[in-house]
This record gives sequence, C-alpha cells and structure tokens, in this order.
Amino acid sequence: MSFSLFTSKGTILLFIGFLISGAINAQELYQPRSVQQAYKNATRSTDGNPGEKYWQNHSVHDMHIQIDPPNRTIKGKQKITYTNNSPDTLKILNYKLILNHHKPGAPRLRTVPEDYLTSGMHINEYTENGIKQEWDSKNDGINKAIRLAKPLAPHSSIELTFDWHFDVSKQSGREGAIDSTTFFLAYFYPRVAVYDDYEGWDRMPFAGSQEFYNNFNDYTFQVTVPKNYIVWATGDLLNPREVLQKKYADLLEKSMTSDEVIRIVNQEDLKSKAVTLQNETNTWKWKVDNINDIAIATSNHYNWDAGSVIVDKKTGRRASFQAAYDEPSKDFKTMVTNGLNTLSWFSNNTPGVPYPYSKMTVVRGFANMEYPMMANDTSNDDEEFTQFVMQHEVAHTYFPFYMGINETRFAFMDEGWATTFEYLIGIEDFGYEKATENFKQFRVERWVNNPSLELDVPVITPSNIMSGLAAGINGYGKSALAYLALRDYLGEKVFLKALHGYMDRWNGKHPIPWDFFYSFNDITGENLNWFWNNWFFSNNYMDLAIQNVELDGSSAKIQVNNIGGMAVPFDIIVEFKNGETKTFHQTPGVWKNDCTMTTITLKDVKDIVQIKLDGGIWMDADLENNVWEKKD
Ligand SMILES: [Zn+2]
Repeated sequence: MSFSLFTSKGTILLFIGFLISGAINAQELYQPRSVQQAYKNATRSTDGNPGEKYWQNHSVHDMHIQIDPPNRTIKGKQKITYTNNSPDTLKILNYKLILNHHKPGAPRLRTVPEDYLTSGMHINEYTENGIKQEWDSKNDGINKAIRLAKPLAPHSSIELTFDWHFDVSKQSGREGAIDSTTFFLAYFYPRVAVYDDYEGWDRMPFAGSQEFYNNFNDYTFQVTVPKNYIVWATGDLLNPREVLQKKYADLLEKSMTSDEVIRIVNQEDLKSKAVTLQNETNTWKWKVDNINDIAIATSNHYNWDAGSVIVDKKTGRRASFQAAYDEPSKDFKTMVTNGLNTLSWFSNNTPGVPYPYSKMTVVRGFANMEYPMMANDTSNDDEEFTQFVMQHEVAHTYFPFYMGINETRFAFMDEGWATTFEYLIGIEDFGYEKATENFKQFRVERWVNNPSLELDVPVITPSNIMSGLAAGINGYGKSALAYLALRDYLGEKVFLKALHGYMDRWNGKHPIPWDFFYSFNDITGENLNWFWNNWFFSNNYMDLAIQNVELDGSSAKIQVNNIGGMAVPFDIIVEFKNGETKTFHQTPGVWKNDCTMTTITLKDVKDIVQIKLDGGIWMDADLENNVWEKKD
C-alpha cells in the first residue's frame, strides 16, 4: 500500500485509510504543530522530499583574522552578505555569539574552571549596508537579536560588517589555547542564526554541552600570524607559496597526489625556523563554499603530516588527510595512514558516499570534536582508541555537515549516524569482537544498566531540553541501535539504497526527523511507521524473555515475550545433546504486527537441551529470563 495514502493530511484520504485498516492509522507518526504547518506550506513533503517551496537562507563571509600568540587576543574584521530566501520580511536578525559562553555569568550545564573564563566576544563596530549601527556588547549572551534599521524583504540581501576581538581561553575545550603557542578557534565569529521554515529563528541557548545548527555559507578568510606559525583550517589554502618556503610548499603539493604519508614538517624543520617565509607576519588565505562552519588552528611547534587518497572512483577525485600534532603525541604518527583508510572506507562502503570535501585535518587538542573538514582530538596511550575517535569525528562529515542537521535539537540525526558508521568501520579495522565490545561499553551499557525513567524517554525528545545523560544515550547509543536494527531488518542493500536516497535529497539542506522517516518509507516502498514509532517515539527498552517452549518431534515452538517492547533483532541459540549449537537469527520484523510477543517455530532441531536468546549489541536488560533448559 502506498505510504502517501496514510500520511496525507487530507481528511478523505485518511478516511479511506481508516476503512482499509484502522490499525495502520494508529501507526501515524506524531508531528509537532510547527512541522504540520511546514507540510501545509509545502516547504516539506510527506514523501520525504524537500517541498516545492523549500527555502533556506545564506551568508557569504569575508574575514580577516589576526592571531599573535602567545598574546591571546584575536582580532577580526568581517563582512557578511546575508540573503533572505524566506517568504517573510525580517525585522530583526538573530546573531549567534557562541564564545560568550566563556563569560563569567553565562548559563552552563556544568561548572568550569577559572581558566575557561574570558570576557567573551567584543563587537567594536557594526554596520548595516555601510551605515554604522549601535551595538552594546555589555549584556550580550549567546543569542543577540538586533532590530534592523531597515527590514529585510523576502529575496533580498543585506551587507553587514563587524570589527571584533576576543581572548582565547587559557583552558581549551572545543576551542581555546591548546598550549601557549597553539590555538584552536571554533564557533568564534559572529554569524546570523538559522531562520528556518518550521521554527523561525534559532534562539536555542548553548549551555556548554550541546552542538550547533548552521546555515550553508561561503567563506573567504585570511589569517595573519607571526612568522614560523603554521595555519590549518577548513577549506582550501589558496596561497601556500606566499607563506611556506619552497621545500614545504612542494611537499604539501606532493601530498595532494601521494598515497604515501608525507612528513611535511617535523621538529628539526621547526627548529631551523625555515618552514614559513621569514616576513614579520604571514597571511594565509583560505576559501570554501557551501559549508556550515569553519575552524582554524595555528602553532609554531606542531608536526605536519599529509597524504591523499581517491575518494571518488568514478571521477578519480582525491581528498587530502592531514595531521597537526606535538611531538609527545606518538599516537598521532599513524593518524594520516589511518585517516586515508577511513576516507576511503566511508566513501566506498557505509555510507558509501564519496567524501564530499577536498581535505580533512586532525589537530591534537583536548576536545574529540568535529568541525567541517577539521577535528580537534585528544592524544591517548591506546593508539586504537585514537583511531576509533578519529573515525567517529570523520563520520560526522556526512551527518551533520553534508546533511545540515540541527544538532542542538536532534542530536540523534547526527551522533546516531556517526556512532553507526564508527561501529561498521570498527568491525573492518578492529574485528567484530573488539568493535562489538567497544560499542557495548561506550554506547549501550550506560543505558541498559540504568533503570531510571530518564533514560527511556523517546529518542524524538528534543535534545536541547534533556539532561546531558539522557541526551547522550538517545543521541548516540539508542539511535545507533535503531539504525543498525533497521539495517538488520531491511538488509544492507535496501538500507543503503534508502540512506543514499535520503542523503541525495537532503545534502546541503536542513532535514528534520520526519524528512528522514518519510524518505525511508518512500524509497523502500514500505510503511515503516511501526518501526519509527517503536524506536523513536516510545519509552521502550530492550528486554526479551522466553515465555514458553513446546517441542514436537524435530521442531520447536518458542514463545518470546518482549518485556521492554523495543523491536530488536536477536539470535536464538539452540544447544543439542551432542554439544553442538545452531544459531537462528531473527530480524526486528518479528515484532512488526505485535511488539509484545512473537512465536517462532524452528524446524529440524531434534535433541535440544538448551535454548538461549542473545541480542548481541542489542543488550538485554534482564538476562535471567533468556534461557530455557530441557528438564528430563
Ligand atoms: Zn559525535
């Protein structure tokens, strides 16, 4: 039956649907009223495609940033050309000044040490269309609404300029001073918040643990640093020969066509002070289009490795992988080798979409955090853990960056996928057992072993209103389990077809959960609402039990009760008198019609002594009731 019949808002179609099957009507997905309105407005479509009236706004950024370590003050001059593609006249612009989270009075989910505090972002001068406007920085928070001198009509643009400065914090987390001469800048420049078709202005606060929601913008930026400082950033370096000495510019160029790891700069090179041109300062120029943020790192003592790999076999396009790290971080010596394998694996397997950018750079810091084309990762004694974290951060390239996810509200739409891809590449790189152990330990146990009601809130619950713990469980483990259960149900081929379809439809845009659900329904040709309701809209947890076993000659009829209610896949492991075992895999499909109980008949299973249920990564909350033994 066609899916659109049941999701249409038309009363007549719903009525027909009801006549055909009342039960399926009960499988409608909850939609917030703001989302219902988006479907009425045709900005989104119930077949999962962007609606014919879909729109999003756009900024063109031009920035000049001055960094002068160990002085922690960063200065910037910035121009934004902002285009209003919405049908609304904008009387205000909501700006995001995320670095104001460092101000002493900022609301925070966690306490921070003194070294995290700064005076935040200072706007020295602000203009609209060349005319200076008032900007009082004193009480600025994360969100700053400015009433425009002249409202911005639909389909028109405004030119905004800023002159700003801020201090990087001594303590570095996602951004800040990694050490006295290594700085990582992220979320650092003023930006116009997302204004979207279903919630309007993004005014969600940032309290330290959430992530972000950004427009797809174009960036041209120049970074001026003292001589002997190297700069790494999102985007393409436009002028390597104007900032690097010939030997190093040559090595960088060579790395763009080399499968081998090239050590562009090592400690000896840095000591010779002959890596960069010896002007008092050098200005590194960068450009990148259609991307949702930029990050910048600079250091005078970090090593620099690079290599590249073909990420698109059809066109032969290569992508560069680079690492910037201090000498004691030995685990970073293998970063580029592992990174090239990672770009290739993600491009060719799951998600199986060619890495969409020209480059990826991992910088040794303290964050384990992704930015477009960049990651800020910790150093570890366990090299495999470093590789595991890097793979997770690179996986974020697809979600949230390629796909424009609102991470603040729907963490499961990006973290869940990064966690899914991290597990699948882990099976390839570390083996099934180790990857499964990691997945259980880092992603599932905290949920399964904690019976608190807080951890069973539905995945669809907006992550911006949850505690850190619940947001973490829903955003990572539970949603990854849902995506992997879906893969188990659909089979890899259909799963990838639907995933690719969804990604094709929504890359460079802002999909919301319903766009994902409806795209999968549309592309698979199957109404999966039973599955979405079960995994994303319920308080279910994972607990199966063997209720009853009836043996009849060589067959066995097993009644499995689903106590927790989650539509999990599982194995039935049968042990025979002769000590042999046989495994019968069950997909989540066994819960399609009744998610409380199912009866499974196994054939050709004579002389059973024991039957056991094993959920694998779908860990069972109560293992006691998972075993049945034959009584003599
Ligand atoms: Zn992540």
